[in-house]
Amino acid sequence: MSKTQFELTDNVMYVKGVGPKRAQLLEKLDIFTKYDLLTHYPRNYENHTTLTKIDDIIPGETVQIVGTVRNIDSHDIRNNLTIINATLTDDSGAIKVTWFNQTWLLRKVKAGTRLYVIGKAKADPWSYGMVLNPQSFTILDSGEMPELGIMPIYSLTADISQQVMRSAIKNLLSSMPPLTEILPQEILKAQRLISLDRAIREIHFPRDYFTLEMARRRLAFDELFLIQCGLMLIKRQTQDERLGIVHKKSGALVKAALEKLPFELTGDQKKVFRAVAKDMESKLPMRRLIQGDVGSGKTVVALLALLKTVESGCQGAFMAPTEILANQHYEKFSALLTDLGVRVGLLSAKVTRTKKLKEEVYKKISAHELDIVIGTHALIQEGVKFDKLGLVVTDEQHRFGVNQRARLEKKSGTVPDMLVMTATPIPRTMTLTVYGDLDVSLIKELPPGRKPIKTEAKNIRSRKRVYEFVREEILAGRQAYVVCPLIGRSESERLADIESAEEIFNTLSTGIFRGIPCALLHGKMKPLDKDMIMENFRVGRTKLLVSTTVIEVGVDVPNASVMVVEHAERFGLAQLHQLRGRVGRGAAKSYCILISDSKAEVARERLETLEMTNDGFKLAEADLRLRGPGQFFGEAQHGLPDLKIADVFRDVEILIQARDTAENFITDDENLKYFVNLRENLALAYGDKFSQIAAN
Ligand code: ADP
Ligand code: MG
Repeated sequence: MSKTQFELTDNVMYVKGVGPKRAQLLEKLDIFTKYDLLTHYPRNYENHTTLTKIDDIIPGETVQIVGTVRNIDSHDIRNNLTIINATLTDDSGAIKVTWFNQTWLLRKVKAGTRLYVIGKAKADPWSYGMVLNPQSFTILDSGEMPELGIMPIYSLTADISQQVMRSAIKNLLSSMPPLTEILPQEILKAQRLISLDRAIREIHFPRDYFTLEMARRRLAFDELFLIQCGLMLIKRQTQDERLGIVHKKSGALVKAALEKLPFELTGDQKKVFRAVAKDMESKLPMRRLIQGDVGSGKTVVALLALLKTVESGCQGAFMAPTEILANQHYEKFSALLTDLGVRVGLLSAKVTRTKKLKEEVYKKISAHELDIVIGTHALIQEGVKFDKLGLVVTDEQHRFGVNQRARLEKKSGTVPDMLVMTATPIPRTMTLTVYGDLDVSLIKELPPGRKPIKTEAKNIRSRKRVYEFVREEILAGRQAYVVCPLIGRSESERLADIESAEEIFNTLSTGIFRGIPCALLHGKMKPLDKDMIMENFRVGRTKLLVSTTVIEVGVDVPNASVMVVEHAERFGLAQLHQLRGRVGRGAAKSYCILISDSKAEVARERLETLEMTNDGFKLAEADLRLRGPGQFFGEAQHGLPDLKIADVFRDVEILIQARDTAENFITDDENLKYFVNLRENLALAYGDKFSQIAAN
């Protein structure tokens, strides 16, 4: 069957120069359709814009020349080494060109053959002249001139060469009718963007660097604009006055809690709570993100917000990222709130371990016998039905899940207010990308009396001295953490040179810390065991806790004054900062010691950054720069769609423009319809990941 109409959804094998066999190879690059090939953007470019005369060649520079072969011959140097020498001439001079082992050349290249060669010249060790080592070359027909320009460099897969990829894309572009513009003219004009059709063509084969930049900007704008529109859409769908819960002005309960707290709120805490209270009292559902460095006291603000919802006759849910944290919050909340007559419940693995226990809690929740429920993601399970959910506090990892939950609540007529807290200091650019649908509050100020934590990066050779110091601290009444990247050695053989938490625990507890109560904690333990170990450490029965990163977020034991991180090079900066935040919570001077034996430049640079600053935001920026967003966020679901061309660092300006544009664009339903079309138009490129956001 012949294909008459061009469809971007066509199988890529119909592109001239591809065919069924190569189409199969391209699948490895996730290229299945013509559209996939079209959006297989170059990862880099080579400048092939000008030819150099042979006489003008400078040693060490990559040049392109066109010349005629004067003579060509070969020498067998050793069994497996043949050298082929040719002399290439043009009207300015001659140069020697050398290939290794490509004996097939002798059949194709003869005296009189014209060649286009790209390569680097150097002084010839065998003569007084220069020799050119070709990176690539093409045999030209008589009279033919090479294609000059900025050449795209594509990511490749086995058996697909750069040449094949280039010509496939070139064929695709020449067979493709002009692409329909997807952005409205006003936006194109206001943002000075070139057309989509031109951008796609120029991104592959740019006429010059200026045009290339214009093309890149246009395509990056599309990606970021779509994401921003999606976020605005989420915001708009929840920005419905009919759906919000109007909370009462803060009353006796909030006041009583403030009086009961052993401290005064910091200025930032007060400010943020005021913003939260205002959101909650308004008709619109609240969607607010609280960003605050480790230990800045976000939990208290969440607590007050929860009390506020209880005062209004609603229930509050507090979703913690880990089991340990859920338990910790539960303990603290109960201690403070039970006297105030607030009924606090826990929904975590501890209580859901039997069906009976679980159903008991479910029943209490739906009968409104609990005012505040604290839990892990168990809280958004289907079976959990609140009587009147007024506020959900969550962390960034769970926010999309909670969006779904909010939709469920919608059936009952209201959307609960939502407060997202982040344990990671996210730089502003990231905030715009991932949290563009939320209003942001910052807690910058730390509670008074915090002493800066002394951070030191140590070589593995000083380990013994480090642990002697830890022992002294413990004998002086403090407690300490030791964090290791692995639980047990068997996890991966590749990492065999890294001691596991188990091994380090065994070494330490039977060696230098003999006679001192030590414990081991890791994520694979049973929830009840974890809980008991954590409880023992919290009350000071255990002095040294060896663990994996299960304690990374939020654990609060003020008497702990030392944090030792083993194989620190294996952790991200933001993660190390979180770990460091486990100490420095009490009156004692605190220490964070980062042990590593890594000689890698980047690793050392990262650890030195930590020594220098205690500011989580500065660190996050540095980490992102050093390791990129994927690494920064780790495997956690951050909701950031894969970007094909935009780069949230380099393209901050485009990001801000895209955000402003989206904000003005998603204002009425007409535009919403347009947006849906826009998405469908580009769904092939961005759709799958993007629709995840928009669907939530
Ligand atoms: P994070 O922002 O990391 O969640 P927490 O809410 O766990 O921080 O607070 C860290 C510690 O500081 C807790 O022990 C908390 O009781 C204490 N804290 C919070 N606010 C204040 C304050 N205004 N003054 C003194 N201590 C405070
Ligand atoms: Mg409200």
